[in-house]
Amino acid sequence: MLSILVYRSRLSRPLAQDELSNLVDKAAKRNQENGVSGILLFDGEHFFQYIEGPDKALKATYEHIRSDPLHHHVVTLLSDYAPSARFSNWAMQLIDARDHSNSIVEPISAGLTTPLPSHDRALKLIKAFASGRWKDHTTDFVTQNWQFETRPSGFETLAEPINSILPCQFALQPIVDPLRYTISSVEALIRSATGGPPYTCFENLPATEHHLFDLESKRNALELASRLNIGDCKLSINLLPMSLVSIPNAVDQLLANIEKFGLTPQQVIVEVTEEEAISHFDHFELALKKLRSVGISVAIDDFGAGFAGLSLLAKFQPEKLKIDRLLVTDIHQDGPKQAIVKAIVECCKSLGITTIAEGIETPEEWLWLQAAGVELFQGFLFAKPLINGIPPVSWPILTK
Ligand code: C2E
Ligand code: MN
Ligand code: MN
Repeated sequence: MLSILVYRSRLSRPLAQDELSNLVDKAAKRNQENGVSGILLFDGEHFFQYIEGPDKALKATYEHIRSDPLHHHVVTLLSDYAPSARFSNWAMQLIDARDHSNSIVEPISAGLTTPLPSHDRALKLIKAFASGRWKDHTTDFVTQNWQFETRPSGFETLAEPINSILPCQFALQPIVDPLRYTISSVEALIRSATGGPPYTCFENLPATEHHLFDLESKRNALELASRLNIGDCKLSINLLPMSLVSIPNAVDQLLANIEKFGLTPQQVIVEVTEEEAISHFDHFELALKKLRSVGISVAIDDFGAGFAGLSLLAKFQPEKLKIDRLLVTDIHQDGPKQAIVKAIVECCKSLGITTIAEGIETPEEWLWLQAAGVELFQGFLFAKPLINGIPPVSWPILTK
């Protein structure tokens, strides 16, 4: 099977013209031996490469490139399959994009085995490179300049779980502003009486009781927040949208518990997943109106993982939008994820919605997203959920 791959990268150090030519000659030789062909565009600072070849050989070639210290910030832009090679005569052709910024198609066409249709994605990407459109400001952040330092959250942990008739407890995970060293809110994640994950809290209940249990369990989350004295910090709770819809007076019940534990509606954020919200939107809209009218804010959870993302956002704009971990993982190396997240951030900026990135596990992911304009972050890099308490947070410190 013939695979194709397009990536871009940044040169890690200045490179003289003949050193570059030598490197390209070596790569061409290696490619020829492996049945790989392609083009290498260069603009003095960045590389943009199109390579094609048998699946295995192409993977090995890409691995080689990624481990080459000359390439920084390697980002995959396209990874696909094609019926036949496009540049079978070019084991590796270097094209200086600065010489051809008006008509990059011409020098490329010279090497094509068969002409490319103008809608071809690889061709469109090549044109975007030549016009400088894809240049990535976010690569200016250097991971090595940051160190992480763990500091206690300053909150106590309860010695005993909350005494409740409901067989559940909550783990709390901070959502942070890493550059201001502040915890914006803590998210309450449900756990079974023995500390088991969320699904174990629901699996033994009949389906008809899921929504009621979901709503009632929030009593324990609110009591926990109150006992820990969360102060200025907000509490995010997860609710299935249908828990707000199918239970009469759900919002009043929630409000009564908020007041009972001495919290205010302004301290509470309800996170809903988009998937359930869209199927009963009329009812859901009513519940949302009620939440809003009492001062509780709403966040759309797992944005980008479900099926209703944009259509839900067109109908309803929450205070906060949480970008799902699926889009976050390895974003610093993934062109399609970068393009999608940039568009989400841009869209939220226009709508006045705060963006949160979930599931941050590495400094690279955080730095890329921070530079792209995401405001708040949640993930194991900063803090793991802690049962009945607020965990210490690992804060980034700029060392250079
Ligand atoms: P969620 O609301 O998106 O919560 C985030 C989940 O991602 C949590 O898993 C958290 O432990 C995990 N997580 C946080 N940071 C990272 C990270 O850096 N890497 C990885 N791999 N995971 C990370 P958890 O606690 O197992 O919860 C799973 C889901 O269960 C939640 O996803 C939420 O949809 C649901 N859930 C939790 N509590 C409740 C609840 O009270 N009611 C309802 N209806 N659903 C709940
Ligand atoms: Mn959530
Ligand atoms: Mn989520």
